[in-house]
Amino acid sequence: MIPKSNHTSVRRAFFPGSFNPFTTGHLSLVERGLQMFDAVVIGVGVSIDKYSEEEIQSRLHPIRTLFADKENVTVVAYHSLTVDAARDNDCCCILRGLRNAADFDYELPMANVNRRLSGIETIFLPALPELSMVSSSMVRELHHFGHDVSEYLP
Ligand code: ADP
Repeated sequence: MIPKSNHTSVRRAFFPGSFNPFTTGHLSLVERGLQMFDAVVIGVGVSIDKYSEEEIQSRLHPIRTLFADKENVTVVAYHSLTVDAARDNDCCCILRGLRNAADFDYELPMANVNRRLSGIETIFLPALPELSMVSSSMVRELHHFGHDVSEYLP
């Protein structure tokens, strides 16, 4: 039997991304992450050279509104190395989604470098089959050509 730990620290996962925009695929990952962790910190990666403070806040605002009633979800902007942002936010690991083999090829070296840099592990969740075609870039492109994208936006 696994002994019960009397260690009560909160286990937080850092979920980094561009979230431009935050999609139903991202939402599903946060919800599933919360089944494994006490809390999820959504880290919106932004370049401070490219965006004004106002633009950064306007990226964060809709995501914060979405999780306004969830105490265990926080939304932060970061412009450092992902592992440094994860540490700064007291996260024990990084959460990422895998939709296909291309995601895997991109994510695997990053997870290995991140572990080597910091000891922080990356936890991968496979995309739900019905959401595996949802990506921010697809949503941006459909929107650009005048299609209704509301079904992809939580
Ligand atoms: P990045 O630019 O860092 O890839 P994204 O905002 O595109 O950031 O994605 C953030 C994370 O969410 C990534 O791990 C990505 O694989 C995951 N993700 C994106 N869309 C989906 C989806 N439909 N299902 C599961 N995970 C997803």
